Amino acid sequence: MSGVDLHIHSTASDGKLSPETLVSKAAELGLKVIALTDHDSVDGITPALEAVKNFPELRLIPGVEISTDLADGEAHVLGYFIDYTSRELGAALERFRNSRQGRARGMVSKLGAMGIDIDWQRVQEIAGDGSIGRPHIARAMLEKGYIATFEEAFDKYIGHGGLAYVEREKMTPEEAVELILRSRGLPVLAHPFTVNNPESMIKKLKAVGLVGVEVYYKDNTAEQTESTLGLAERYGLIATGGTDYHGIGDSNEVMLGGVEVPLEAAERLIAMAGKQALKQANQ
Ligand code: AMP
Ligand code: ZN
Ligand code: FE
Ligand code: FE
Repeated sequence: MSGVDLHIHSTASDGKLSPETLVSKAAELGLKVIALTDHDSVDGITPALEAVKNFPELRLIPGVEISTDLADGEAHVLGYFIDYTSRELGAALERFRNSRQGRARGMVSKLGAMGIDIDWQRVQEIAGDGSIGRPHIARAMLEKGYIATFEEAFDKYIGHGGLAYVEREKMTPEEAVELILRSRGLPVLAHPFTVNNPESMIKKLKAVGLVGVEVYYKDNTAEQTESTLGLAERYGLIATGGTDYHGIGDSNEVMLGGVEVPLEAAERLIAMAGKQALKQANQ
């Protein structure tokens, strides 16, 4: 069991557990550093920071995960230590969340046209106050027995290029990196194998300020971890990692802290964030 998990979702987006529950669970598991990285939302950070005060052994890094669509895949950019009170960030994330609503509605209506009758109201209910996403649609499909597993929803219908797939608002991964930098955050490319050519993406994003790449990830094969570690070294990036935990609780899910991530990854992020803060204070 690793002591570090830098990729976690809560009810502020499409995770099932509240920020508070995640924090106590991480503490129970004996984790040392976690990062809350909800999709297009920083709403979980304040309650998580409040909850972590009860566990002096545990450190919480405020984060976010911004998704962008590519012609041939998706690129997700994690932002660590973002200023979650930033107005610009708040406004941008709000815009993304609104567009998520339109996108999810579009997918529900495409499903409807195919005879898969999902109630939009129910999808909203499942999402609650959280930033709406495809897992909420998948859960509604599962409930009504249209699919047998979560995977099936993505493979057939709502995954990239699926029958009911709708693209998200146009934003480039470079723009996501730049938004994170303007919000005083540290941009890191998440799970690089959702893009066709991880190296060219890393090179492109490094040029605009990427500081890390997610090397240790629940879906990686040993070869993928190895090759991403090589890329991190070649491009001078911090090798981060995490479980992308959503608290779904099915048998396929990797438990919080269940991916071995070196403590050094967290230490390097913390040191870099400290240096940036110092630079700003001296400006
Ligand atoms: P969205 O934010 O609407 O683009 O949905 C992205 C989320 O869907 C990811 O964070 C994953 O939790 C989930 N997801 C994406 N692809 C799959 C898949 N093939 N199987 C299960 N869950 C997936
Ligand atoms: Zn998610
Ligand atoms: Fe992601
Ligand atoms: Fe994620």
